[in-house]
Parts: sequence; C-alpha cells; structure tokens
Amino acid sequence: MSKLLPDLYVNTIFDIDLIALRNRGIDSIIVDIDNTLVAWETEYASKEIIDWFKKIKELGFKCCIISNNTKDRVVKFNKSLEVYAIHRAVKPRKKPFLKAIKFMNTTPDKTVVIGDQIFTDILGGNRLGAYTILVVPISKKEFFWTRIVRKLEKRILKKIEKVN
Ligand SMILES: [Mg+2]
Repeated sequence: MSKLLPDLYVNTIFDIDLIALRNRGIDSIIVDIDNTLVAWETEYASKEIIDWFKKIKELGFKCCIISNNTKDRVVKFNKSLEVYAIHRAVKPRKKPFLKAIKFMNTTPDKTVVIGDQIFTDILGGNRLGAYTILVVPISKKEFFWTRIVRKLEKRILKKIEKVN
C-alpha cells in the first residue's frame, strides 16, 4: 500500500518547487510523457514544456523521460528536449528506472520520479526508492484500461486525504 503513495501530489509539473527538490539533494529527474507533460494526442512539446526543460537543465538537473508508449512517440516528443529517453518501458517494472539511473549517473535517493499514474509512475518510483511526485492528469481522453485504473486510484487518493 505505501508503495502506491506519492511523496507529493501537485496539480501540474509547473507547481513543483525545483529549488526545494535540489535542496533535498535531488540531482536527477525521471518524468513520464503522456498526461504528465502533454495530453495523449499532443505529439510535440509545447513552449511551456520546452521552457521547463531549459529551466531544469539550468538548475543542474539531469533528466530522463520514461514512457510506456512507442519509440516513434517518444523520439518525436524528445526532439525539442534532447534528454535521455526510454520508450516501451513497461512501468512499473524496475528495469527502465534502473536504466535511467545509469544514464544519468546518479542514485535512486538523488532521483525524483514524476508522473500521472499511481500504478506505473508512482509504484515504479517507490520500488526504486526514489522521491515520487504525482501530478493531476492533463487530458481526460484516455484508454479504456487507464480509466479503470483511475477508479482504483481515486480510492487510494481518498485514503491519502484521510491521512492528511
Ligand atoms: Mg502518463
């Protein structure tokens, strides 16, 4: 159960206090694409997202995008960002997260995992031993399976609210 709880829950990636992350000793960012950075149907990064990546680079963070989506989608999306990228990751499997850690030459305790799904991004990040941040999904347009998972997530989030 605790592996499903994020350390932090925010509206959008823009609400993440990057300085606070750096002050926690975090030097590397693993981030999901779909519904975290852009909506499902958005092929390219928006200006705001490109600027956000510029900002994290300026602050000295290393970054890797990890997506369960196809190579085409991930490569195209990463064109304007030029960060490490892993496609068809099969999150929450540990392997892609460990690969990202290796790319960034860091350790799990210095890494944050940011994503919109508890059962892939947050579970994967927590299993790795990273700091985890859940964001509210951007688009409501989702695959059928994702919609089912959302219902389970809602139950869990209710529990988080109770604890707080
Ligand atoms: Mg996602």
